[in-house]
Amino acid sequence: MRLESTLSRTMEELNPVDGTVRMYVCGPTVYDRFHIGNARPFLVFDALRRYLESRGLTVVYVQNITDIEDKIIARAKEEGRTPEEVASSYTEKYFQDAAALGVKPPTHSPRATEYVPQMIEIIRSLVDKGHAYVVDGDVYFSVASAPEYGKLSGRDLEELESGARIAISERKRDPLDFALWKASKPGEPRWPSPWGDGRPGWHTECVAMVQDLLGDTADIHAGGYDLVFPHHENELAQAESLTGKPLARIWLHNGLLTVQGQRMGKSLGNFEYAYTVVERHGTEPIRYFYLSRDWRKPLDFSHEGVQEAGRAVQRVYSLLWEAESFPDEPPASEEFLVRLGELESRFHEALEEDFNTAGALGVLQEAVGEAHRHRSAAGDPGGVRAAATLVRRLAEPLGLFQESRPGAEGLAEELIDLLVELRGTLREQRMFPLADHLRDRLAKLGVELRDGPQGTVWSVSRESREAGGSPQSGPA
Ligand SMILES: [Zn+2]
Repeated sequence: MRLESTLSRTMEELNPVDGTVRMYVCGPTVYDRFHIGNARPFLVFDALRRYLESRGLTVVYVQNITDIEDKIIARAKEEGRTPEEVASSYTEKYFQDAAALGVKPPTHSPRATEYVPQMIEIIRSLVDKGHAYVVDGDVYFSVASAPEYGKLSGRDLEELESGARIAISERKRDPLDFALWKASKPGEPRWPSPWGDGRPGWHTECVAMVQDLLGDTADIHAGGYDLVFPHHENELAQAESLTGKPLARIWLHNGLLTVQGQRMGKSLGNFEYAYTVVERHGTEPIRYFYLSRDWRKPLDFSHEGVQEAGRAVQRVYSLLWEAESFPDEPPASEEFLVRLGELESRFHEALEEDFNTAGALGVLQEAVGEAHRHRSAAGDPGGVRAAATLVRRLAEPLGLFQESRPGAEGLAEELIDLLVELRGTLREQRMFPLADHLRDRLAKLGVELRDGPQGTVWSVSRESREAGGSPQSGPA
């Protein structure tokens, strides 16, 4: 597979050693539930992970939980709870909301609070090597000590500096220097350190976790485009200053979600929580909405857009469910199987080239189109089934089109009642052989009929049913 890395701006071959892809995706800060824009990287990179797994690779998928951060402290004050309580309740909600989007749980979900000793160790080494300096209990990374600073975001230092001057702090040697360790203020969570009590900054967290769980160099480091600068630039500067090795082989960033062209953000007040969007539209319309577009580009969110995706999903399902009630025989023609084989190759080609989910879903829609054509051209039920089977199989790693036809399970009792009633009618009309035939066929299915003064009653016996199940009975 080839993926375009934000760092090199070229297509890079994903060449995992020993068939294992080590993948790190920046996770949530747990001070609130996440919005539908935050959901985009969770969902896109989950799909990438599942696709890689479907190709026989092992994926170690690490996603951190930032449970120390200014926003959590602010939220705790607002809610009259401790920062720990706020973080733990929103961590739980995070997993619920991600599951509702069909996102598979990561291999590891490390919490920042579990990594404080490792972060202190990284910061200590950076200070020792002259990449960081201490000012009254705060520790700052010195951007001037990292000559390649800016290489990920592609910004040059002068341009960055002129932008940063507004936020100048006399504590820092350079306006771009960023905090690695913050001395704690009264009432804030604190950990002891060589520089006094305090708490680590966000940018060190991911470095500590990558190094601990994936080694010095991850295969893929991913997140939303808004993380390129400063978060990922700062992660990279720290890690590479320490190890001299790349923090990641490939950097991936998804485009941001917008609302009427404006970035969706908590601070802008134009957001919608992901869970409310799932409640309104269901999971698959959202997955389809995201995966049917170029995930690298900005995407404008609207309920109409998701509804339209929902209609596309429904059209595919109605075909799949209908196709699956078609007989298997006669099987699809050789020629048609070759055509389906071509579609399958094109589906994988799309995904293998920069994980082009939009292109791949376009190919799936072609397979759906083939199934439609074979359905109307009577005489090839096997072809319709083969196309439907292919759609199901290919869509699986994208988390789409796996629902089975809405069940008829609840109908069983009513159908037995109906057959018992029909047998009664046959007997009234003295059509005894047909009535007896019906009784015998039901008996073979494990449904025993007993005629009595109150009419006929039925029961399902456990012994006579292969599948087992508890005995039931009903009046007729
Ligand atoms: Zn991160």
